[in-house]
Amino acid sequence: MEKTIIKDKLNRPLRDLRISVIDRCNFRCQYCMPADQFGPDFEFLPRSALLTYEEIERVAKLFVQLGVEKIRLTGGEPLLRRDLPTLVEKLSNIDGLADLALTTNGVLLPKLAQSLKDAGLKRVNVSLDSLDDGLFGKINGRGVGTGPVLEGIEAAKQAGLGVKLNMVVKRGLNDSEIIPMAEFCKNNGLELRYIEYMDVGSTNGWKMDDVVTKKQIYHLLKDHFELEPVDPAYYGEVAKLYRYKDKDVNVGFITSVSESFCSSCTRARLSANGQIFTCLFNGNGHDIRNFMRNGATDEQLAERITAIWNGRNDRYSDERTAETNKNRKKIEMSYIGG
Ligand code: SAM
Ligand code: SF4
Ligand code: SF4
Repeated sequence: MEKTIIKDKLNRPLRDLRISVIDRCNFRCQYCMPADQFGPDFEFLPRSALLTYEEIERVAKLFVQLGVEKIRLTGGEPLLRRDLPTLVEKLSNIDGLADLALTTNGVLLPKLAQSLKDAGLKRVNVSLDSLDDGLFGKINGRGVGTGPVLEGIEAAKQAGLGVKLNMVVKRGLNDSEIIPMAEFCKNNGLELRYIEYMDVGSTNGWKMDDVVTKKQIYHLLKDHFELEPVDPAYYGEVAKLYRYKDKDVNVGFITSVSESFCSSCTRARLSANGQIFTCLFNGNGHDIRNFMRNGATDEQLAERITAIWNGRNDRYSDERTAETNKNRKKIEMSYIGG
């Protein structure tokens, strides 16, 4: 398929699209949807506000024509969206799309992994922040132990999906789990990515002191394992990867805070209610849902996406300071989807 390559103001092409399919979640992770802020009265998006699968497919096709090669489904918890394999099937049939992945807390994978794989999903990233049941239950705010997530990981493997693990590290909360998680993943042939705790949204009370940096985690790992660096697989690869010298398993870091990577950020985000965001930290979304529902043609939609991307100059992590963190209008991770 002939693709039109579009660039933003900092000369970055559009390559990746993250689609949030739902803003709800069955967890209340402290760093993402703290239970005291996302309580029983919290107003989530009504169903009519969510993009339908047909609408998502239409927008995704246009994004692919404009250069997108990888799509990741996320949320909220994407597996809570009804009939998700139907959407996966539509997306996996898009001509010119090289990769289709999903980020999930894993709890519903035993039920859905096989049908997602059959529908064309290639990979899942499962989030797991601790192997200790008590601590994990505290972090996820729902008292759920690690069992359901571990079963989800196993189900994904059995179904033939690629599986990687995400672990957000917050100082004083789960830094004691850095080595146990590394051991578990190494032994089970799973790539683990340590994610630096980020100042997304305004509900998690983020402080710089809470961040355990890649450098700190790396030094800790070096005391236990022998590691060698792995070259990035492609332009815009977000994780900094290493390999265990005695086993062909990678371990990586998402260094959003300590070593920002805005200069190669090729990622657009589509929220569940059809707003396009050009940065995880830019709270100004661009509506595409109403435009579509008011009868915009494909050509007009493509023009709008192009104009949004051409106007992009976000580089929040490069510019992050205590002041920018305080003064910025930001959106919640559960809304825009990490
Ligand atoms: N519910 C799914 C899950 O947890 O995997 C998908 C959505 S979640 C918002 C996507 C990713 O963002 C997860 O790996 C999660 O751990 C991560 N995340 C959420 N809040 C974060 C924060 N404040 N800092 C860093 N990563 C965060
Ligand atoms: Fe839910 Fe994922 Fe956020 Fe946890 S990180 S609250 S599982 S959306
Ligand atoms: Fe991309 Fe914004 Fe993150 Fe920088 S801060 S890497 S521009 S999403």
